[in-house]
Amino acid sequence: MLKDCPECRQSVSDSAELCPHCGYRLIGREHLVFCRSCSKEVLPIVNPHDTISKYCPVCSKPITGLAGRKIFFSMGWI
Ligand SMILES: [Zn+2]
Ligand SMILES: [Zn+2]
Repeated sequence: MLKDCPECRQSVSDSAELCPHCGYRLIGREHLVFCRSCSKEVLPIVNPHDTISKYCPVCSKPITGLAGRKIFFSMGWI
């Protein structure tokens, strides 16, 4: 099955994790966090010494995950 990439509008396999044309992440976007420092959506990494804070893998700055915390609240984890 093919679907359209929301970013570049080209046909991609609906099982593809990333768009082969533009690199847009198609699967797992719910884990992405917007990094204000580099203005990108990134898959945050967690510091083992500080599991509350998440860090941007691109610029290594802490990501203040307000959006992520809202998800936690809505899921009733806190
Ligand atoms: Zn694309
Ligand atoms: Zn960043």
